[in-house]
Amino acid sequence: MAVRHAAFAWLDTQRAGGKETFSQEDTSGLQLAGETIRLMPTQQGIWKPAHLQAALSFRTVYRREGLDRPYDDAVGADGFYRYKMRGHDLGHFENRALREAMIERLPLIWWLGVQGGGYSALYPIYLVDEERSDLQFVVDIDAVPQPDITWPSIDLELDPSYRQQLTKRRLHQRPFRAAVLRAYRTSCAVCSFRHGDLLDAAHIQEDGAGGRPVVTNGLTLCKMHHAAYDRRILGITPDYEVRINADVLREVDGPMLRHGIQEFHAQRLMVLPERRAERPDRALLEQRFQAFLEAG
Ligand SMILES: [Zn+2]
Repeated sequence: MAVRHAAFAWLDTQRAGGKETFSQEDTSGLQLAGETIRLMPTQQGIWKPAHLQAALSFRTVYRREGLDRPYDDAVGADGFYRYKMRGHDLGHFENRALREAMIERLPLIWWLGVQGGGYSALYPIYLVDEERSDLQFVVDIDAVPQPDITWPSIDLELDPSYRQQLTKRRLHQRPFRAAVLRAYRTSCAVCSFRHGDLLDAAHIQEDGAGGRPVVTNGLTLCKMHHAAYDRRILGITPDYEVRINADVLREVDGPMLRHGIQEFHAQRLMVLPERRAERPDRALLEQRFQAFLEAG
């Protein structure tokens, strides 16, 4: 158990330092709880270090949205994700390693593929059941603390199809944040502020309105500019320029309003993804900008 908790603590520290996307390389050869350990599977989807009885992590690769909508076929009507066992053999050593974690109620790390490469970590997650005839485990993500992302709470009273939809949205949040922060080099698009734990991956077309969890529908924004964007105080034109609501522009207040909001009016976004294909979708910006103008 010690090494699991040391692994979670290590991931917490990394995340606090702004790191969201992990590779094989930077999760190997770690010194945790007095042991040298690797946290991610190499070839296969499931990872059990030799000296542990149960699996430590498993992995889901990134699949391009639209071609093959990730998670769509894997979330049950009960709102729980189904992770497919390895091969067709219930007794395969990797399946046994996962079953052991399930029986012992041991927390695991779930590596979720990130658009553009690497993996984001969801932890602690639990396997709560197995469905042998379908060769799959039932995954519970309710224990995951996610203070920095939109994480709708799931109530068992909810309508099953809505519960299913919320689980899919939850599963997208962590890799979406990782992909958007990477694309913007962990900097606010408006002001270039670089403190990872005060940055959000904002949706241009909002999550609840069908916005897709892809980089071109995202912006890295600091807490202040994210809130201002969502409240239509700050708008972003399809040409990547900032506009401030006319009333707010006339207000007189302290330095936060002046330097933090008003001075960005008519300025170009300070940070954009280097790869053109990752820059904000102009049609989505346009739609959102119209809503800003209507609110003003
Ligand atoms: Zn900002």
